[in-house]
Amino acid sequence: MHEPDYDSLRKIMVEEQLRKRGITDPGVLAAFLSVPRHLFVDADWKTQAYEDRPLPIGAEQTISQPYMAALMTQWLCPSPEHRLLEIGTGSGYQAAVLSLLAHTVFTVERIDVLYHNASKRLTELGYRGITPLLGDGSTGHESGALYDGILVTAGAPEIPEALLAQLKEGGMLVAPVGDRQHQRLIRIRRHRNGFHREEGTPCRFVPLLGAQGWQQP
Ligand code: SAH
Repeated sequence: MHEPDYDSLRKIMVEEQLRKRGITDPGVLAAFLSVPRHLFVDADWKTQAYEDRPLPIGAEQTISQPYMAALMTQWLCPSPEHRLLEIGTGSGYQAAVLSLLAHTVFTVERIDVLYHNASKRLTELGYRGITPLLGDGSTGHESGALYDGILVTAGAPEIPEALLAQLKEGGMLVAPVGDRQHQRLIRIRRHRNGFHREEGTPCRFVPLLGAQGWQQP
């Protein structure tokens, strides 16, 4: 069977799924145009990698729909000097995108096999400035703090306090928050004397499991 033309599929994805739905930040669009999403999904799903949906990545987890990943990225407002933390490495796709828009990306995954696969993939593809970590990211990554931005890519019952504590003044956190089935994107900005909270679009993510997430798988 002929391999599809992945570069063309990726361009169409960026035009139809991102730009037409309001992803306007040129840096974000360029990053999604650059990262080869088909190399982040299981081989069985490669030809579907640019479709408008989440896809399985093993261990009952999913890579987010391209639009949702782009929306979260745009809302986080990454910039080239930023130090970022991602919770939920999964395939490593979102970390690869963030690495093109920021200086440093720490990314935490709780499932061993996903952590190993993502680490290997990111190295092989030549992404720089990313530190993959294995563990419970619901309590963040204290030794790398403070962060300019924190992106949680699994659904939480509430924003973990530990993550708020690791946010710089002026820093932003984006996370899906809600019950196990339905969440909304929430953005928190840290100010000198508190936090400002905004509600965004409804969404559906796999659960954030851990000390400051859901207790049951
Ligand atoms: N950002 C990923 C997709 C995330 S799917 C990508 O680009 O492919 C959500 C991931 O969060 C899953 O891999 C899941 O195992 C992980 N996860 C859930 N709870 C976690 C926790 N407490 N700490 C770290 N990772 C967690």
